[in-house]
Amino acid sequence: MNNGGLLISALFLFVIAFFKIIKRVLFQKRLDKEDEDLIYRKFKYYRNLKERKQRQFSRRVREFIKKKNFEGRKNLEVTNEMKLQISATAIMLTFGYEKDYLMSGLETFIIYPEEFYSNNTKTYNKGETNMEGIVVFSWKDFTEGFKDERDNINLGFHELAHAFILESKYKEPFKEFFDENYEHLGKMMVDGDIVEKARELNFFREYAYTNKMEFIACAVETFFESPENFKKELPELYHVIAGMLNQDNNKKIIEEVDII
Ligand SMILES: [Zn+2]
Repeated sequence: MNNGGLLISALFLFVIAFFKIIKRVLFQKRLDKEDEDLIYRKFKYYRNLKERKQRQFSRRVREFIKKKNFEGRKNLEVTNEMKLQISATAIMLTFGYEKDYLMSGLETFIIYPEEFYSNNTKTYNKGETNMEGIVVFSWKDFTEGFKDERDNINLGFHELAHAFILESKYKEPFKEFFDENYEHLGKMMVDGDIVEKARELNFFREYAYTNKMEFIACAVETFFESPENFKKELPELYHVIAGMLNQDNNKKIIEEVDII
């Protein structure tokens, strides 16, 4: 390429970068200070981010809330705090992604005060995620999940991990990191001793061994709640989950990924 060509390419890249900044300033506003304070108090993950990443996290949560429907059931009134907590949990899961971090296939959250009867499973459930882009939570159990941040039980991460898997199987942007790791995990579960190892260490609750989807959803809960222990005890599985999410919760690679 000659000098003229290089100059045009540089100018083109500069114009793109300029419009990205304008778009961010005009359309991707942060949450209000009060809402950011709530997230700061409730989410260790957010507290551990550098300031620049906190701003990005805040913009994404705000965007997520704007794009999704939140519906209460059984007289439950959906509060701003509920929206913030659910959305921040979702954004944690996709924070390693540059595109489609809003999980565009996910449209509606239905929130019950406590366990609800599901017409799909014909049982009382704490949470449910379906192919129609709906995630259902029992709010009592959602908040319970964050009370103990080290017990590896977190309904929010669990259901949103299901939504993330459904999204990843059909959406192009997630495929980049997802497919390879998903396949690798399948092989590990069939050929390797990862399941036996996890069982021996009593690492996940029994429900994790129901099927591959539940195994991943429970592994995602542990990934966010006890990353150090997870990495130490089951490094191979940890790396597959970190690869799927494109973030290493232990090393905080998320701070190094340069995304808008
Ligand atoms: Zn599940």
